[in-house]
Amino acid sequence: MYTADSPKITVLGGVNMDLIVRARDLPRPGETVLGQDFRMLQGGKGANQAIAAARCGARVMFLGAVGDDHFADSLRHQLLLEGVGSELIREVDGTSGVAIIVVDDSGENRIIVVGDANSAITSLTTPELDAITGADILMLQLELPVSASTAAARHAHDNGTMVFLNPSPVQPIPRDFLDCIDVLILNEHEADRYGDLLLNAVGHVIVTRGASGSTYRGPQGELKVPAFEVEAVDTTGAGDAFAGALAANWSQGPEEALRWASAAGALAATHMGAYQPTLEQIEAVLF
Ligand code: ADP
Repeated sequence: MYTADSPKITVLGGVNMDLIVRARDLPRPGETVLGQDFRMLQGGKGANQAIAAARCGARVMFLGAVGDDHFADSLRHQLLLEGVGSELIREVDGTSGVAIIVVDDSGENRIIVVGDANSAITSLTTPELDAITGADILMLQLELPVSASTAAARHAHDNGTMVFLNPSPVQPIPRDFLDCIDVLILNEHEADRYGDLLLNAVGHVIVTRGASGSTYRGPQGELKVPAFEVEAVDTTGAGDAFAGALAANWSQGPEEALRWASAAGALAATHMGAYQPTLEQIEAVLF
């Protein structure tokens, strides 16, 4: 399945059980509405991006934590099934991360995440640091305590591992963390909230704009990549599929990597929940 050229990616991030409800309209404050559908699927930006990258052919190691509840086994098992290295996932006291997601008929979503086990990771162990040193790329989001992500980014930066950051959910990013980021991937709403101060501090910046595509700015100039036309059902996780595919294809250069990422993001939008497309599905869109 892997070749000597398969990129090695270590993802340090959140893993959650997503509880997804589809309802005709999203409830207003104080209102109760009847839903049409309920599903429980594995989620968390870290886990989603890890699986997305693995499905694109990367060798992926996941660093994170689950609780000691009945969600834990299923979360770990799902990563294992996808061939994602899971042996360093911590099991901590308490509940695993959970996300409550409500999707309306137009595909719009509202999400509440309860971090729990994810918030137990405040610093890194030696085996976790070694898993970063051994990788080509470290992928980070902001679902874990920022102290752990900062330590990971610093360690990667000092050891020649590229650092990709998807700075979501939006929160302050310390300067010493920012200084270690090579590639920033964020959606247009996040880009607006962070502003130019953040965007100008990183070498490669990719802004995703849903059905309007994505833009890239980096040392080689700027690119505008259109989105593939699809029938969107639920855009939850489109950004994660995009980020995972981008990292897995980064060695081909930003332009090609963005094309792969756009195909992955479009396919993710055609499925309910945080869907990660397979290599075959992405190739069918691209070629
Ligand atoms: P996020 O999920 O972080 O909000 P976006 O919604 O911007 O991220 O989606 C990430 C990428 O996925 C987009 O840049 C685009 O390439 C693709 N994508 C998302 N939604 C659609 C859509 N409705 N149609 C086609 N491509 C989409």
